[in-house]
Amino acid sequence: MNNYAPKKGTFTFTMIKPGEENQENIGEILTMITEAGFRIQSMKMIRLRTKQAEIFYRHLADKPFFNDVVKYMTSGPVVAAVLEKDNAVVDYRKLIGATNPEEAEEGTIRKRFAKSTDRNVVHGSDSDDNAAEEASFFFSMGERFNSKGFCFFGWGQ
Ligand code: GDP
Ligand code: MG
Repeated sequence: MNNYAPKKGTFTFTMIKPGEENQENIGEILTMITEAGFRIQSMKMIRLRTKQAEIFYRHLADKPFFNDVVKYMTSGPVVAAVLEKDNAVVDYRKLIGATNPEEAEEGTIRKRFAKSTDRNVVHGSDSDDNAAEEASFFFSMGERFNSKGFCFFGWGQ
């Protein structure tokens, strides 16, 4: 194992979801993220293919809204990023707020920008294992950078 491996528990994965209303807020959303102490380890804009969205959201496959989620998430580009911070997964879930923006607390990204559950502006991983899986779904180790600007080469535990 080398010194450049990201340790589980030190990062989370996020997407800014598609839609004109989200695109115009990308700058402000990223500012909220960095001001909350997250360091951007990787970032890109990408349009998901249907198969990719189906795989990414496979845990929702038996829900009645699954097809709507896949359709929406493939309707335009997302901004995908890996965010680094101590306690990243839990702290980022706090920063984004509840799934239903009507239940999200003041100061959260969803409270500020989201109008409904089905277009709730951002995704955030819900566990360290899922953060690791979701980050590697979008980014190779050569696309993930530590604070010194070096890319990672393998997994640390
Ligand atoms: P999250 O982790 O807070 O994003 O919530 P979940 O993992 O439970 O659900 C994933 C995504 O599915 C949510 O962010 C919503 O965009 C969408 N979703 C969840 N519940 C509903 C629902 O009742 N209706 C619709 N249309 N979408 C939903
Ligand atoms: Mg989730």
